[in-house]
Amino acid sequence: MSRRSKVPEKRAKLSDKEMRDMAKKKSGVRDARIISPSDVETATWVRLKCQFGCDCYGQCLVCPPFTPSPEQMRKVLDAYRRAILIHCDPEADVKAIVADLERNIFLRGAWKALGLGAGPCYFCKECNIEEEQCRYPEKARPAMEACGIDVFSTVKNLGFPIEVVRTRRQCPNYYGLILVD
Ligand code: SF4
Repeated sequence: MSRRSKVPEKRAKLSDKEMRDMAKKKSGVRDARIISPSDVETATWVRLKCQFGCDCYGQCLVCPPFTPSPEQMRKVLDAYRRAILIHCDPEADVKAIVADLERNIFLRGAWKALGLGAGPCYFCKECNIEEEQCRYPEKARPAMEACGIDVFSTVKNLGFPIEVVRTRRQCPNYYGLILVD
């Protein structure tokens, strides 16, 4: 075998269509769309909704106050050109899906790929808050709202369905976001 044949094959950059197809093939994903991270809205009040109203505040390493502030997140979003927004089934494990997609996209050459899910993390019975060291860093990802993203405005403006859940019988809409490149 020649020296040259050992060089890994250089693959073309992941196209929007390939990325969308990759996402739509995942079990639990209803819809997926390539978006500009500039369409993702951040707001100062989002963290207050975690702090005053959610009993997971401070209870898990992927929730505030351990996550980026809305101002920090805005800077992060502005460092990307493409992202993929996924609409998931109500019973889907959004965090697991975004971590998996993040890895698939990363392995296709998008070294900045970063996934954000929905809701708190339940991978451990009790989060390792004391040591501030996540036990499953390969799959624990913060929720969009935990990073100051206004999920309602973002998905509504992009034409996706979302409503305030008023009763237990109402079906919620869950979303994940993967920042790509
Ligand atoms: S994986 Fe475990 S340690 Fe990491 S954030 Fe989730 S609950 Fe906490």
